Amino acid sequence: MVGIGNDLHRLEAGRRLVLGGIEIESELGCVAHSDGDALLHALTDAILGACGAGDIGDLFPDTDIKYKGADSRQFVAEALRIMHSRGLRLVNIDAVIMLQTPKLSSYKAHIRRNIAEICGLDESLVNVKAKTGERLGYIGNSQGVEAICVVQAEK
Ligand code: MG
Repeated sequence: MVGIGNDLHRLEAGRRLVLGGIEIESELGCVAHSDGDALLHALTDAILGACGAGDIGDLFPDTDIKYKGADSRQFVAEALRIMHSRGLRLVNIDAVIMLQTPKLSSYKAHIRRNIAEICGLDESLVNVKAKTGERLGYIGNSQGVEAICVVQAEK
């Protein structure tokens, strides 16, 4: 089974930027109801997708006060619980982060390790890529940060 997820958050000055559970040093951060971790939101949707369990908005509505400022690791944990309850387990994860600035090269290894730990996978089974927007469009103009994630799962 495979699952895909993506997520997009608007960027604004003076907010936190968290990607893959790691705090990124940045002048711009995410406008979001939760901690705005686009990568973990994309991962949550990919996990839910692989087990046919809907999407993050079904499970954790952004109108629910309970999730205000929420640590997005709990969304991934709940999606994994659902996956395991359906007799599936994660095989591997591949992800792309799209952000103009700052460059994420110095964060990628840390993000990868953190996701591997959250998901109980060996680091070799998690891959994280980072792209800029080549100064084009909403990524390139630093209006937003986006993440795409694909997961494979098996019985
Ligand atoms: Mg989101």
